[in-house]
Amino acid sequence: MSKTIYKKIAVLTTGGDCPGLNAAIRAVVRSGIYYNLEIAGVMRGYEGLIDGNFIELSSHSVSNILQRGGTILKTARSERFKREEFRKKAYENLKEKSIDALVVLGGDGSFRGIEKFSSEYKIPAIGIPKTIDNDIYGTDYAIGFDSALNTVVQAVDKIRDTADSHNRLFFIEVMGRDAGMIAIYSGIGGGAEAILIPETQTKVEKIISILERGWERKKTSMIVIVAEGDDAGGAYDIAEKVKATFSEYDTRVSVLGHLQRGGSPTCADRVLASTLGVAAVEALLAGHTNEMVGVIGNKVVHTPFSEVVSRKKDYPSELMRIAEILSL
Ligand code: ADP
Repeated sequence: MSKTIYKKIAVLTTGGDCPGLNAAIRAVVRSGIYYNLEIAGVMRGYEGLIDGNFIELSSHSVSNILQRGGTILKTARSERFKREEFRKKAYENLKEKSIDALVVLGGDGSFRGIEKFSSEYKIPAIGIPKTIDNDIYGTDYAIGFDSALNTVVQAVDKIRDTADSHNRLFFIEVMGRDAGMIAIYSGIGGGAEAILIPETQTKVEKIISILERGWERKKTSMIVIVAEGDDAGGAYDIAEKVKATFSEYDTRVSVLGHLQRGGSPTCADRVLASTLGVAAVEALLAGHTNEMVGVIGNKVVHTPFSEVVSRKKDYPSELMRIAEILSL
């Protein structure tokens, strides 16, 4: 397997957090040890690279973390890493610790940063995609998405119970500043009457006609899922606009917020994190660099960072069509 002579690699989590990061860290550490590598953990993402904040990771240090939310390595955003002088400091710290290569658990922003760093200092790096928004090009699913979805669907089910008891209309805001993936999947999974996403233009009149149709059919509850970055505004704004012309239902708004980022990862996320953790280590050992490992159609694929950060993942328009059919 090995085309390289690495002795020590480091793993870090950077950017936004999500469930499944610990499962991926464990997979990187265990597979690294399997291939006779030493593994360091970098605390707080690129901030830890700059500050030389490293810990040694053993097989034992990743015991019993597979099922835990959050990240044992912490995560952070780093304005300093965008500046050449601090990336130089990061490089010096890696040299001092004899670290040969990096595995970066990140999103688009993190990959932009590591691509620059890796090209400047010839430090091999492989990325693993993680984001609850699932908007990273080069993989069907990013770590964290499935867990966030299941959290949202559980919440929608609970809101449906109370909405149904009181004949209420709920606008539920989910995460997704630029991407409607959580809204689309949880909207279908939660049986929403309408799904509003940033990728398509939201027409308030269209929502009203869907709600009127439900009212005429004597629906006892209605749920509209709103991605936070929808072009017509957040759930509160849209609820106000709708209420101005359609006031038959008692209307409520629920913003799910940060609970979508926490909790124990689902089995699907644990399997994805385990697969990609091993794939990242094996990619490094096979001599790959500046690539992200992902899964497309159940196969591990490698995509150059340059492509990951410059291409946009398509949103599943077919699922929007399905949701519309089923919202009758
Ligand atoms: P994510 O990786 O989850 O998309 P961010 O977009 O916040 O999260 O990016 C994480 C970090 O990546 C930033 O805080 C910064 O340190 C680094 N980064 C992002 N863009 C660049 C860039 N153009 N140059 C250097 N570092 C960058």
